[in-house]
Amino acid sequence: MSYDPDNIFAKILGGEIPCHKVYEDDDTLVFMDIMPRIDGHVLVIPKTPCRNMLDASADQLAAVMATVQKVSQAMMAAYGADGITLQQFNEPAGGQEVYHLHFHILPRREGDKIRPPGQMADHADLAAEADKIRAALA
Ligand code: AMP
Repeated sequence: MSYDPDNIFAKILGGEIPCHKVYEDDDTLVFMDIMPRIDGHVLVIPKTPCRNMLDASADQLAAVMATVQKVSQAMMAAYGADGITLQQFNEPAGGQEVYHLHFHILPRREGDKIRPPGQMADHADLAAEADKIRAALA
């Protein structure tokens, strides 16, 4: 299994495809998932190539997890969340569909329900959610 440099997240990193950016630092980028399972659903990726957790370096994993924690803490405040769900899939049998390492972060409220997969969000709604998380990070 090798890294495909034409995967959609590589194109987002290269600026070929737009995203609703929430946060970035030298090593990681965070943007809204276009098919959110819940309001505030974001993806955290390393800026350098790796297919998934299985081929990631320790440095890539450390950088991504530090950003996952930072954004999760901001989301707890932004959404008045009671908890956070992380999802991360590896290879087709593991449920992975885009082959650039990413962690899903979902802010959760007691008793809430995640939506079924595959429902495209309205861009204005995604922009509003990104604004909300960015404000909590500021
Ligand atoms: P998975 O590889 O199973 O973690 O799924 C890939 C995730 O990427 C899904 O939740 C998709 O909704 C999301 N996704 C796919 N294309 C884009 C895109 N262009 N911008 C943001 N999220 C995307």
